[in-house]
Amino acid sequence: MSDCIFCKIAAGEIPSNKVYEDDKIVCFHDLDPQAPVHVLIIPKKHIASLDDTTAEDEELLGYILGKVKEIAAELGLENGYRLVSNCGEDGLQTVKHLHFHLLGKRKMTWPPG
Ligand code: 5GP
Ligand code: ZN
Repeated sequence: MSDCIFCKIAAGEIPSNKVYEDDKIVCFHDLDPQAPVHVLIIPKKHIASLDDTTAEDEELLGYILGKVKEIAAELGLENGYRLVSNCGEDGLQTVKHLHFHLLGKRKMTWPPG
């Protein structure tokens, strides 16, 4: 997707503060952090949201979730963390490229607003 900001970050066309990258995913610090640690984990493949995934993406989704604990450990989140994926209008998704927010280093609140 040529006009997608996260595709451009994944391709290195827009700079980001990356903490992890491999052939399938990229993880980088959020521009507007909502916690002392706030990174975004995205697939390199353009998928608009969780709602736009297909059976073909199941392996990739499992791969992403499996990587979370490694990235969390790398970021020192041994006390816990929150993983969030906002989807669609009610979910307040602003960037239409699937991403998982990984937040930590503060006590979260529940329920989310
Ligand atoms: P959403 O609201 O879609 O769940 O989350 C999008 C997130 O992307 C927001 O937390 C926002 O701060 C972050 N974001 C938007 N544009 C950029 C950018 O160009 N670089 C980085 N690092 N984060 C961005
Ligand atoms: Zn994209």
